[in-house]
Amino acid sequence: MTSSGPAIVWFRQDLRLADNAALQAAVARGGPVLPLYILDEDTPGRWAWGGASRWWLHHSLASLRADLRAAGADLLLCRGPADAVLESVIAQSGAGAVYWNRRYDPAGMALDSRLKPALRAAGLEARSFEGALLHEPWTLRTGGGEPYKVFTPFWKALTAAGDPPPPLPAPGRLEAAAMPPGDALDDWGLLPQAPDWSGGLRESWSVGESAARDRLDDFLEEALADYAEARDRPDRPGTSRLSPHLHWGEIGPRQVWHWTRERVLAEGGAAETPAWAFLRELAWREFCHHLLVHFPDLPEQPWRPGFADFPWAEDEAGYRAWTRGRTGYPIVDAGMRELWHCGWMHNRVRMIAASFLVKDLLVPWQRGEAWFWDTLVDADLANNAASWQWVAGSGADAAPYFRIFNPVRQGERFDPEGRYVRRWLPELTALPDRFIHSPWTAPPSVLAQAGLRLGQDYPEPLVDHAAARARALKACARMKEAPAPRTRPSAAVS
Ligand code: FAD
Repeated sequence: MTSSGPAIVWFRQDLRLADNAALQAAVARGGPVLPLYILDEDTPGRWAWGGASRWWLHHSLASLRADLRAAGADLLLCRGPADAVLESVIAQSGAGAVYWNRRYDPAGMALDSRLKPALRAAGLEARSFEGALLHEPWTLRTGGGEPYKVFTPFWKALTAAGDPPPPLPAPGRLEAAAMPPGDALDDWGLLPQAPDWSGGLRESWSVGESAARDRLDDFLEEALADYAEARDRPDRPGTSRLSPHLHWGEIGPRQVWHWTRERVLAEGGAAETPAWAFLRELAWREFCHHLLVHFPDLPEQPWRPGFADFPWAEDEAGYRAWTRGRTGYPIVDAGMRELWHCGWMHNRVRMIAASFLVKDLLVPWQRGEAWFWDTLVDADLANNAASWQWVAGSGADAAPYFRIFNPVRQGERFDPEGRYVRRWLPELTALPDRFIHSPWTAPPSVLAQAGLRLGQDYPEPLVDHAAARARALKACARMKEAPAPRTRPSAAVS
């Protein structure tokens, strides 16, 4: 085996220098390092990045490149099918090794599993490393050797497994390899133009590894103590907003885990409960990723096969109104407008908005999943698919089919003064609190005083929730008899 020549570090969803095992190993190997990112929109079966993801990716790559330059190297950008690009970069650079951190989407895993032996057969050193998850999906198993399908026992097993390995430090100075010619980031057209709809994203986010670290620091400092209560309140800055940073690997879950744990240990008793509540949410991310590895059809097919026959409705107008935040239910519409503006939506509101689409409108969950995929900056194959199936009732450890969120009650409970709704629906600003989640119940005099013409300034409700609930329950009733889900052999380590 030849192992002379630089080591290519193939960045994917690990756009950071710290806690990057592949980069560390390349440095430890000695000799020059060639950091590479491939924009691969050609591998069959991969979900092409949505618009908001492309915006984030552009800025994240710019940030990674700046960090690599500051460390003495650079980032080679190439576009095309990953196997062909690698072959060409290896030939041009004389690389002796290719290192990467593992990814867990089915098409990516399949490609990596093919590439590793092919590279080795060609005389290169090909190695993959952990870093995107707390534990590898094939390491947490039930007593019967099965993957976990229910979150609570999964969480117990995860905590019983002990802390994940501690995060790695960022490498110091990098020895740069000679760079073959690559692409200019601006030429990839990842940023929207004509029209540029990304103003809200720019306002809402700082992208990149150091921004991710600052976000976690600020959250631990300012919001962790109230997390257990505030995490369900969209009207408060109660959650970490780390999801896009975690999705793109600007920060790793092991860093989040250990920094949170260190804080708990440093502060003792009072900090424990919220810290564990936060780590438990991080474990949901883990659970979703493990599910995707064990059930690779999760993004496309109902996990419970009985749901394949669900009597969905063809409600194109309803779907369009939902995407535009014009359903007439303020908490749903506020969420959908937050999503459009920020590329993000609060978790509680994601559940309410998703429930409205699949239960009140009976639109297939896959359509909501696809809209989120295009508009979220944290659009994540595992979390998105598992969450949509959770809401639809077709997923692993899903909400029971008869759980149908009442958008008015949910609004009143989690946005009691209507601050969240008023922020995203300025047309409702002057409505008194008691009507803010159900404007159609306000007497005409109140509407007139608030300057609100229902049906003109803001829509009448698209459906009557009580009637829609009854229709959904009828449709769901037959799912009770759905057969047990199938278990798949897990994919190989790639
Ligand atoms: P925090 O409460 O601060 O949690 C910390 C981290 O834990 C998050 O950043 C996230 O990585 C993880 N996490 C928290 N809650 C969940 C959860 N329920 N499931 C999985 N991981 C979780 N999350 C995504 O990252 N990408 C998606 O595409 C996505 N789609 C969703 C679709 C629907 C219909 C629903 C109901 C939820 C979806 N979620 C998704 C999960 C969740 O809404 C977000 O992870 C969360 O809102 C991110 O905000 P945060 O970083 O402030 O979360």
